[in-house]
Amino acid sequence: MVKRIHNFNAGPAALPLPVLEQVQKELLDFQGSGMSIMEMSHRSKVYDAVHNETIANIKKLLGIGDEYSIIFMGGGARSQFALAPMNLRGKDGFAQYAITGNWAEGAFKEGKKLGDAREIFSSAASKHDHVPEEGTIKVDPNAAFFHYTSNNTVEGTQWHYVPDTGSVPLVCDMSSDFLSRPFAANRFGLIYAGAQKNIGPAGAVVVIIRKDLLARSSDNLPDMFSYAKIEKQNSLLNTPPVFAIYIIGLVAKYLLGLGGLAGIEQRNKEKANLLYNAIDESGGFYKPHAQKNSRSLMNVTFRLGATELEEKFIAASKQADIEGIKGHRSVGGMRASIYNAVSLDSVKALVDFMSEFKKQNG
Ligand code: PMP
Repeated sequence: MVKRIHNFNAGPAALPLPVLEQVQKELLDFQGSGMSIMEMSHRSKVYDAVHNETIANIKKLLGIGDEYSIIFMGGGARSQFALAPMNLRGKDGFAQYAITGNWAEGAFKEGKKLGDAREIFSSAASKHDHVPEEGTIKVDPNAAFFHYTSNNTVEGTQWHYVPDTGSVPLVCDMSSDFLSRPFAANRFGLIYAGAQKNIGPAGAVVVIIRKDLLARSSDNLPDMFSYAKIEKQNSLLNTPPVFAIYIIGLVAKYLLGLGGLAGIEQRNKEKANLLYNAIDESGGFYKPHAQKNSRSLMNVTFRLGATELEEKFIAASKQADIEGIKGHRSVGGMRASIYNAVSLDSVKALVDFMSEFKKQNG
């Protein structure tokens, strides 16, 4: 028996065990080809089927059709901070941003470097402990797009609604909650997500673009920076991250088998409720960072008060086979990332550990 740890890493993060087992099974001889999928041409028939099936299954999970294209790119979600405005803003246009955390700030910074980017919401004054309340975001109808970050990985907050921007295209960084819950994908102009949290290994970014927006990519953009050029070649303009795409495909199939996004959301809610209850019922020993109605179902952030106690907590957690709960360096404290692949049993193990630690140190 292989020993698997309780993995609360923020990304790269846990992958579903059945997916890893399938990868292991197929590694040396993929579908009778006598080689692994990493060793074959990205233009082969065998790979092509995997590539297109992955796209079809993501579309199925999201309930979107031909009005959208799905492309795979490299460069991490961070590249998209620049590529979205480069492609969608136009020469004299402006974009509006909601700054709800560390990564939203990153997107905004890149947007400003390249042109006119305007902040219309910021939660910085309260250390990004909340997202805007529904109905409070007012987007300028002349904006080229509105950008937001659906789940703030570092701070542990999440938008629990899709903002209404009228006819202004919605652009969303969904890196840390993509395919974790059902949402109205047809309300978006552009969605991007680095794979390494909920849907696969590092190395690929899934980009979903409404086809009419492809016309905005200027011909003057370098080919590899152009959504339109990459889409035209079905993400085969250059060698795509084939291994990552293959695993994303396996994860998509796994999610369909669980009943799609509604099925995985139910599991994710159960895990998050268990952990937030443990925090809320700790009599103040564990202090949540996020305001209640902005709490993330993916990244649960909390503090213990004294730094020494937090260090003790982290050291003791490792003894209990719990890994990855140290908070991001920019906020400190704890962060338990409970993405799709983290099991209820792992969350139970964490909650039991928290209860025991409190008994001994409270
Ligand atoms: N956006 C969000 C919401 C993230 O959580 C991260 C990574 N933690 C990034 C962007 C950056 O992703 P990458 O490392 O793939 O560039």
